[in-house]
Amino acid sequence: MQIDQRYKINIRDQNITVIGMSRSGMAAAYLAQQLGARVFVSDNTDNPVTRSNLHKLQDSGINGEIGGHSDQIFATDLWVLSPGIAEDSTLVKSALDRHIPIVSEIEFASWFTEAPIIAVTGSNGKTTTVHALTEMCQSETIHGVLAGNMGVPFAKKVLADIINPDPARVFILEISSFQMEFILHFKPRIAVFLNISPDHLDRYPSMSEYITAKLKMTANLDLEDYIVFNLDDKILDEKLKSDKAWLVPFSIKPYAETTYFINNNKIYNFEHATLIPLDAVALPGPHNSANLLAAATAAHLIGIPDETIATVMHTFRGVPHRLEEVAVVNGITYVNDSKATNLDAVKVALQSYPGPIILILGGKDKGGDFAELIPYFADKVKLIIAIGQARPKISAALRDAARPIAVEGLRDAVKITRESAESGDVVLLSPGCASFDQFRDFEDRGDQFREIVMELVND
Ligand code: ADP
Repeated sequence: MQIDQRYKINIRDQNITVIGMSRSGMAAAYLAQQLGARVFVSDNTDNPVTRSNLHKLQDSGINGEIGGHSDQIFATDLWVLSPGIAEDSTLVKSALDRHIPIVSEIEFASWFTEAPIIAVTGSNGKTTTVHALTEMCQSETIHGVLAGNMGVPFAKKVLADIINPDPARVFILEISSFQMEFILHFKPRIAVFLNISPDHLDRYPSMSEYITAKLKMTANLDLEDYIVFNLDDKILDEKLKSDKAWLVPFSIKPYAETTYFINNNKIYNFEHATLIPLDAVALPGPHNSANLLAAATAAHLIGIPDETIATVMHTFRGVPHRLEEVAVVNGITYVNDSKATNLDAVKVALQSYPGPIILILGGKDKGGDFAELIPYFADKVKLIIAIGQARPKISAALRDAARPIAVEGLRDAVKITRESAESGDVVLLSPGCASFDQFRDFEDRGDQFREIVMELVND
């Protein structure tokens, strides 16, 4: 099958193998079927989810297999690969040896839409930024819709647009670096780079390969395209180059070359008019200012007026489990930051409040050094409560700085805050650990925190 030139691609009557019955794999299969391809989906796991997905596919007339890959996966013109499968896996090698072209779900879906794409990537802040950006990108002529990494697969949204076309459509995609593997023609109108930190190094042999993977998003950009990037991020500032697309920086420092800039407690637009006073911005913390400035810059470039951008900055309260204010009781603010599963995230959370803070830390240890947090306590962390499997390690690391109280679980921790918190305090669940010692995932941990707070604090 010819895929070298995007405009010549036609998958009708072609054999397409989708590897992986993840949500994005399922969406790619339905899209391929709608466009007339003969689709086969193969997943080597056999569990209730893949079983149910296989039934759904079969009900729609799509063949598939679970619990292993048969040789049928090689009788094909193209592989659409799930982002869970590594570039250097033997499975991928076996297809490359047979000269089977491989593309990712994002690449595949992008062949079948001409709508502009705003693609957002980075180590931290993607989810927050794409949600704010999607709220901004709503006008008579721009109908932003969110897809990608965490939410609804891109292929599903592209299929919906094929069935019900919308000329005002703009896709806003949250992109993890894994999804940039097996990219060929993918070409966002605006590529947004938030930051690069050495997370996920387990998947990449070196920092430089990790950066290369992230920067792939700019490979096909053209004169009509933009790269929005964080000027405060040294790596991005050094590595991001393009001889075609426009480089448009954002920063939380007052640089003249940015579209919006912060000075004197206000955000200004490029004409030096006030966009919004900082104390009218709903989301706390300098990291969120960076996320909002990234979103605002991209929204401006796609044609959204400043008034809309300012309104969203004022009303957008973030996404659950990221510095989510769950309750204010007797002047005490309870904040759910369950998504903070590493120490960097705890540091930005601590920088987001002037204090006093009661910090709930702990869970399943990820091997970090909790003593790194000490400089961020300043004078504002008045109490630390350590929970879960990591609590002895936290107690040992922070003993001299804070004398943490160690308890088993979240309920005990919230009980303690009820006795020790005073009006004006922030009770912050920012665990700096994975959740799997006591919870299904970080969402489950955050949901339970919210419920316990409602139950114990409100009675
Ligand atoms: P992602 O989707 O990239 O994981 P989120 O918006 O879900 O990002 O935020 C995850 C965590 O990362 C948050 O709890 C917050 O503590 C931290 N974070 C968010 N934005 C930033 C940023 N711009 N810089 C550093 N850390 C951030």
